[in-house]
Amino acid sequence: MVLLRFAPSPTGFLHLGGLRTALYNYLYARKHGGKWILRVEDTDATRYVPGSVENIQESLNWAGLEYDYGPGKGGPHGPYVQSERLDLYRSYSKKLLDLGHAYRCFCSGDKLNATRERLARSGSNETYDKTCLHLTDEEVARRVRAGEKHAIRLNDSTMPKRPAGHDIVFGTWKENHGSLPTDPILIKSDLFPTYHLASVVDDHEMGITHVLRGEEWLPSLPLHLDLYACLSLPPPEFAHIPILLNADGTKMSKRSGDTQVIDYMKQGYEPGAVLNWLALAGWGVKHEQTSDPSTPPTSEHAQSGGEQKSEDNIAPDSRSIMTLPELIEKFDLHTLTHRRSILDPVKLGRINRQHLLRKISAPEGRESMVDKLYDYLKQTYPDSEYTTKDYVRRLIPIMNIGTFEKVKDHLPIFFTEPGLHTPEAQELVHSMSNATYKEVAQKLIRVVENPDLIWERDQLEIEMRATGRDGPWRTRVIMTVMRHALTGMMTGPSVADIMHLLGRERTLHRLQTASQ
Ligand code: GLU
Repeated sequence: MVLLRFAPSPTGFLHLGGLRTALYNYLYARKHGGKWILRVEDTDATRYVPGSVENIQESLNWAGLEYDYGPGKGGPHGPYVQSERLDLYRSYSKKLLDLGHAYRCFCSGDKLNATRERLARSGSNETYDKTCLHLTDEEVARRVRAGEKHAIRLNDSTMPKRPAGHDIVFGTWKENHGSLPTDPILIKSDLFPTYHLASVVDDHEMGITHVLRGEEWLPSLPLHLDLYACLSLPPPEFAHIPILLNADGTKMSKRSGDTQVIDYMKQGYEPGAVLNWLALAGWGVKHEQTSDPSTPPTSEHAQSGGEQKSEDNIAPDSRSIMTLPELIEKFDLHTLTHRRSILDPVKLGRINRQHLLRKISAPEGRESMVDKLYDYLKQTYPDSEYTTKDYVRRLIPIMNIGTFEKVKDHLPIFFTEPGLHTPEAQELVHSMSNATYKEVAQKLIRVVENPDLIWERDQLEIEMRATGRDGPWRTRVIMTVMRHALTGMMTGPSVADIMHLLGRERTLHRLQTASQ
């Protein structure tokens, strides 16, 4: 059975990249009938942000990504919080010490800084001069007995010759540690493990079969493979997921707009739409694989960091719109792209609209939307005679649904009189003289008053167009005056829909007010 894990550090609120990683873990686990774990990697106390674990859980919950094991849920390999597993990491570091693959380092922070600077000045790529590797066993034992603070480092020079590593997304890796520090620290002097040791130990102890994590950890893969090798443990499969970029191709960061999941929750996006949007960023060039799966990209591809055109991310057809069960069905780890993927908020708008339309086309979805809107209206317009479920049922189909929050923007016109002198209202009629406006409004009053006019949506549309065609003003002018008088807004549902829902009396009343 496959077992995956999503292993965020509680160093901030969950961001979009993290949610996509969680989603891919979830999709792979569900697709293959396996399970996935939430593991909290809190070994760096200095970077801990209070509330972040709760936020991560809340975000996953909102998205509907239910994990099988983890904090608050338990499971066979808990605890799932790394700070509660310190003894385990120490036992593994002891094993590495005994095997000669690790050694104790007593150098102080100041000394290490000075060494690093000296090495850099001399043009060396090394970051540590291995002073403590040459301490005698007696000296090490004496200093340990004396309770001297120390770290435990990996002894690079004893690493077994490792065959090339393989990553499902990025292909084969032959390089050694590369950019990693010399003799990386495994246990810090505060007795906490570093990420490298803790993640290897936990992935093994928890029985993880596939590690799906962000591209930023790809350079650490050789080190992790070395740790597996010197502990004689079989490594899991690895798949690194490329970095997400903003629509303008810049790297996504906290400073570049809405990057936290909670931002999307607050704006009322459909969780399924956000997942759909994220899933497609990295999905591969098309839904169906078009590249040759027998030739995985080499590490050079990763280094070049090519960007994927946003058009490739979301084919503009309905096959791109997928609910969570459909994503599970279509997900294929082997078609993920290694290219950096653009996440375009404009596309999220379109996807969200499609998700909402789909949702309200089904009776249960429509009723849940009715309930949500009705609850909102009860609070906002408690005394209005229009605050009824029946009225909401008539409202929903005509709303140009983007998000629930945006629907709210267009609701007031059905409950209160429009503001006709706001800057937006003025902009709508700015190209029209006052005299023309009044003449058109008077004409529209006569049209609406005509008892022969059947008050049905399509009839209203036909009548408005006919008024434009047969009279001295263009249809656009007719529609603009009507929109202004009824709403004072530049955007919203169609004019005929608004008239129909407002009814003859209210339409007339608003036209009369506007024409004064
Ligand atoms: N704790 C790491 C992070 O938050 C996750 C690395 C991993 O998934 O192995 O970036």
